[in-house]
Amino acid sequence: MSERFFVAEPIASQKVKLLGDEARHLAAVMRLAPGDEVTLFDGTGPEFTARITEVAKHSVHCDIMARLDVSRELPYELSLAVALPKGDRQKWLVEKITELGVTRLIPLITERGVAQPVEAALERLHRGVIEASKQCGRNRLMEIAAPLAANDLFQSPGLPRVRLIAHPTDQDKNAFRLPGGDSDLPRDFIAAIGPEGGFTQKEIECAVAAGWQTFSLGSRILRVETAAIAIASMSIFS
Ligand code: SAH
Repeated sequence: MSERFFVAEPIASQKVKLLGDEARHLAAVMRLAPGDEVTLFDGTGPEFTARITEVAKHSVHCDIMARLDVSRELPYELSLAVALPKGDRQKWLVEKITELGVTRLIPLITERGVAQPVEAALERLHRGVIEASKQCGRNRLMEIAAPLAANDLFQSPGLPRVRLIAHPTDQDKNAFRLPGGDSDLPRDFIAAIGPEGGFTQKEIECAVAAGWQTFSLGSRILRVETAAIAIASMSIFS
């Protein structure tokens, strides 16, 4: 696969212009030039083989040569609602769950949460999704949804049939299992992961009253990002 670049506008014609970070990455970092071949994707599904025609100061022009409808997505939708950790741990989490194919990240605002996701932080995370997608070959961007209070999420209409909430317990009777491998029902699911302080009893009760099921990831307490990756990494073998 040739070097991959992201185009922020949907690719709909033969001529495509790369701008901003992507143009800089192509010209200044990768040192590509007119005549070189690249792979372009716009985050909506397909990828495109293209040839560079012009490298200008702030933009790079390409001609599309072929469109390939290649999906590297999971065979079902996986949404993770996560009380995001701070700083680098947040960035790392987004990179890893993008690589693992998570469909949607919902930043969760919880009673014991620490990082309240602000607009600038969400924009940085979106950039992290693009970087990870360039590297791992994913053509559909992981969606970063608007932050939601945990109790609002638990009661939202339109969620998948299987709604799981990660809560450490010392029994293994609710050990995490991928839902629905042996039935015809949709296998989409959503899993919620709490903050370092854990979900409050009230939040757990609200979720359970709305039909969510608690589950355990073993007898050790995992960091928020480890819990997210444990769930996502089980999903890639389905
Ligand atoms: N101090 C909290 C743990 C928080 S860990 C407590 O003792 O409850 C952060 C989040 O990761 C938890 O809210 C939970 O959603 C998830 N998590 C961590 N370890 C887990 C485990 N062994 N089983 C299920 N969920 C876990």
